[in-house]
Amino acid sequence: MNTPSSGANAAAETLSEEALDALSRAGTAAATADTAGAAAHRHEALLSSRAANIKQSAVRDVFEISMQPGLVSLAGGNPYLQSLPLDRLAKTAAAIIAEHGLEALQYGGGQGTQELREQICAVMAAEGILDADPENVVITAGSQSAQDVAAKVFCDPGDVILLEDPTYVGALNTFEAYEVDIQPVAGDEYGLIPSALQKTIAELQAAGKRIKLLYTIPNFNNPSGVMLAPERRQEIVDICREANILVLEDNPYGLLKFDGVLPEPLRAANPEDVLYLGSFSKIFAPGLRIGWALVPAHLKQRYYLASEAVTLCPPTFSQLLVSDYLRNYDWRGQISTYRTLYAERCAALLAALEEFMPAEVSWTRPEGGFFVWLTLPEGIDSYPLLYTGIDAGVVFVPGAAFSASHAPSNKLRLAFSAVPAETLREGVRRLAPVLAEAIAA
Ligand code: PMP
Repeated sequence: MNTPSSGANAAAETLSEEALDALSRAGTAAATADTAGAAAHRHEALLSSRAANIKQSAVRDVFEISMQPGLVSLAGGNPYLQSLPLDRLAKTAAAIIAEHGLEALQYGGGQGTQELREQICAVMAAEGILDADPENVVITAGSQSAQDVAAKVFCDPGDVILLEDPTYVGALNTFEAYEVDIQPVAGDEYGLIPSALQKTIAELQAAGKRIKLLYTIPNFNNPSGVMLAPERRQEIVDICREANILVLEDNPYGLLKFDGVLPEPLRAANPEDVLYLGSFSKIFAPGLRIGWALVPAHLKQRYYLASEAVTLCPPTFSQLLVSDYLRNYDWRGQISTYRTLYAERCAALLAALEEFMPAEVSWTRPEGGFFVWLTLPEGIDSYPLLYTGIDAGVVFVPGAAFSASHAPSNKLRLAFSAVPAETLREGVRRLAPVLAEAIAA
């Protein structure tokens, strides 16, 4: 059976074999291999404990595998970019170079352009934050980098970050790299449970821990698809304020609610206690790497300086492109297109699950976002099923990837965003017998 990282290792092995081949022809192979081996050994001793904490995530393994032809990938949470106005964007990109080439290719301000920060406030207004000040917006290289800056600004090794379990694997990777003590808080189908949050805080404080942040994805959590119930939101902020914990609200999927009213972000009524993260990755295009943080005014300076220390400035060309898109294109209409598309795909996935899945399997029914979260009977580890699934022609992400403990998990994530309805059905048709067999075993 394949090992999880065989794809990556195979690539690395192929490369070094080729390199060694060439060197051997030059008659120096053995000496060089020894030097390389010795250098690897010596440099291992130089690595920071932080670097040792950075692991190749199971999601990355799965992405490599899912490139294999013939497989139906329900693994990747990519947005469906085919519905973007690509011709128009091509013209805009050319015009930006032609008309603003020197500016577009130059360094810019560390906080991001004034125009885009103002436009981001309009996007946040659509998300339910009506009082955002462009002065307090820091544009980042995706919201991934905004998470990293938050951990950098607030966390020393051993400090606690509370979060949902399961949660976004990229955030886990970031926080682990800062040697943070990651502590899950219990949730249910309505998201984080306020009483559980209170209890966890009390226990950790009694144990002498310093809790710095609550990281939460209140809308359509990646991976669970769960939306935090509106009536729990204020209570959660109040509990954190009382315990002097800053809320780090990550809301990349908020505008992708399939229909109905969007719930208010935690930030909306709590400008001083919530650091809010947004992104154009799901509502426009992730390759542009434009996200942002809306930072409480009293923390803005520290946050912005830390961000500048990482990237100097957010990508200038991308900012101009996003600005043009927001200024001249019906971006609200594009978001509606995305919503309708994802709603249809989600419905197709749910219908296929109803049709094919064994009775013992249950799943979430998201109201937005990209993901459905499946639960198998207790005691079944979904990780080995990844490989049986690949043999059956379908890929998913095993649940262990999304948990701070990385413990075996009876859950798995299916993404519907990038897959047409018919293919979703075919993927579930292939997956169902794999799960049924594991349940029967
Ligand atoms: N937060 C969550 C919950 C995500 O799912 C993702 C991307 N999948 C990110 C943040 C990172 O997004 P960005 O492309 O803006 O860095």
